[in-house]
Amino acid sequence: CGIVGYIGNKDTKEILLKGLEKLEYRGYDSAGIAVMNDEGVHVFKEKGRIADLRAIVDVDIAASMGIGHTRWATHGVPSKVNSHPHQSAEGRFTLVHNGVIENYDLLKREYLSDVPFASETDTEVIVQLMERFVSEGQEVLTAFQKTLDLLKGSYALALIDNENNETIYVAKNKSPLLIGLGEGFNVVASDAMAMIQVTNRYVEIMDKEVVIVKADQVLIQDRNGESIEREPYLAEIDA
Ligand code: GLU
Repeated sequence: CGIVGYIGNKDTKEILLKGLEKLEYRGYDSAGIAVMNDEGVHVFKEKGRIADLRAIVDVDIAASMGIGHTRWATHGVPSKVNSHPHQSAEGRFTLVHNGVIENYDLLKREYLSDVPFASETDTEVIVQLMERFVSEGQEVLTAFQKTLDLLKGSYALALIDNENNETIYVAKNKSPLLIGLGEGFNVVASDAMAMIQVTNRYVEIMDKEVVIVKADQVLIQDRNGESIEREPYLAEIDA
């Protein structure tokens, strides 16, 4: 299982698919990507191999940002509908997640009893909480922090907001996730290997931090919203 994300000036869909191919060694049962362009967010996902996913991705789709996922099912059978990315009921948010949300059932009952869930995954609760809190009037970043505070378990996640094509929201807890830095673009990856073809400069993320990834900027915040400066390191991997 693994995560990739890309925002910037190159061929988003191809970079995401190549990244997922590089993560295949980690094992998975399904895969998907979401890309955003002027027409909105487009989700492609499929049970099976990355080659099966490639076959359904619109070859002509041009986008300047997106997220991708290989799934190792923990909650809900391997199927297209349980594959990531997952979207909130009204479609505002789109999410990929690795890990396990241990209290998803409780969160569903407490906050989302009126929300129709599309999948059987533990993951979907995260994206539905985001939409709930934002529809109640919270800022996206505040809602993200509040959602993360409620989660028990492990996660590496990347979230996009269909009303903002300039930002990927990223966080982790007990699951690996890195930010890769480029010229005119930035990337997200579970493993530097996934994105080594586009950059060898990576920044570590610590548990419970929130990272705001834009094409020309990466902002890391601690759980109190304080900015954190962290130098990148050079990954040495044969591409
Ligand atoms: N628990 C999530 C699911 O079953 C994520 C699994 C993973 O890490 O790929 O969909």
